Amino acid sequence: MTRHPEPAPAPQGADGGRSAPACPFCDSAAVELVSPWGGQIITAQWRCLACSSYFEAVRDAFDDAPAAGPPLSG
Ligand SMILES: [Zn+2]
Repeated sequence: MTRHPEPAPAPQGADGGRSAPACPFCDSAAVELVSPWGGQIITAQWRCLACSSYFEAVRDAFDDAPAAGPPLSG
């Protein structure tokens, strides 16, 4: 009875409006920012406090990047 057909929406306004990504390994929310810049300019380096794994996540500032869609002209 613990099914989750769709991911729950990220909590907003939890910490000054800045939301931290969840660990891709254990899905834990206990993560800390290691470096604001990761391997790419749009990613930041995070460390999971639960499984002590490092991972990169897209920066929140770039999270609102436009997805694949029709080009805007004019
Ligand atoms: Zn983890």
